[in-house]
Amino acid sequence: MGGSLLAALSLLVVLVATIAFGLVLVIRSTVRKSAWGINANPVNCPRCNRLMPTVRKPRSISQAMWGGWTCEHCGCVMDKWGRETDRS
Ligand SMILES: [Zn+2]
Repeated sequence: MGGSLLAALSLLVVLVATIAFGLVLVIRSTVRKSAWGINANPVNCPRCNRLMPTVRKPRSISQAMWGGWTCEHCGCVMDKWGRETDRS
């Protein structure tokens, strides 16, 4: 009946809105270089300029969730944008 069609439609609208919101969040974060962004570029260590591996072994829950590396050469901790951070 009409009622179930309306329910299906509103579910679709909510779904599309959620996906659109997520996309906007990721794109905005990519531009602003914050946590939700995606960095497809290679990252060099801010201290010793060593290239970080694409496949990373996260050293912490934060790195597993948000990306970032601990440099194996100098021990520098950086985020996924290659900015030095004291997060460990
Ligand atoms: Zn380094």
